[in-house]
Amino acid sequence: MAFELPPLPYDYDALEPFVDAQTMHLHHDKHHQAYVDKLNAAVEGTEWADKSIDEIVANLADLPADIAGPVRNNGGGHFNHTLFWDWMTPEHGQTPEGELAAAIDDTFGSFDDFKTKFEAAGVARFGSGWVWLIRDAGSLSIVSTANQDSPVTDGAEVLLGNDVWEHAYYLKYQNRRPEYLKEWWNVVNWAKVGAAFDA
Ligand code: MN
Repeated sequence: MAFELPPLPYDYDALEPFVDAQTMHLHHDKHHQAYVDKLNAAVEGTEWADKSIDEIVANLADLPADIAGPVRNNGGGHFNHTLFWDWMTPEHGQTPEGELAAAIDDTFGSFDDFKTKFEAAGVARFGSGWVWLIRDAGSLSIVSTANQDSPVTDGAEVLLGNDVWEHAYYLKYQNRRPEYLKEWWNVVNWAKVGAAFDA
């Protein structure tokens, strides 16, 4: 069973004005599709073609050398973007609630402090990559990764992530990555993040 591009869980313009419809079309239909296609090409005819994407990303160290690079990049791309679409919502302006909100306050000082630190980590990521809220050994922290790498590969749980590749924001925000990171909070699906935190 080949890997498939999941449909967007909302309309392409559902995140306007914070994330524009043209970016969503290119990001989902072209970039994510390309990760899926290249992942399928890399694993075709190997035992890895029958594994779940979660299993692949958690076990990159076991990949044979001849497909390790393409699977890490394109498998990571498929895994990260599948999560990413679900971390955004047409219900704009959500904030963390319940135990997640309390854990964010305890760990980072306040929700505003958390956002400031997350944005700073996203700005500081040189080149292409992601910024994450992770839970590892029961503790929350903010980390960033290069390219399509995921903290899941190192055994952490990702609760939220933002894509800071230029393809995620350049059409609307051009070189203004800090502004994109700030505006992105408007579309975060905190209900989804909270459900994962509680699980
Ligand atoms: Mn992307």
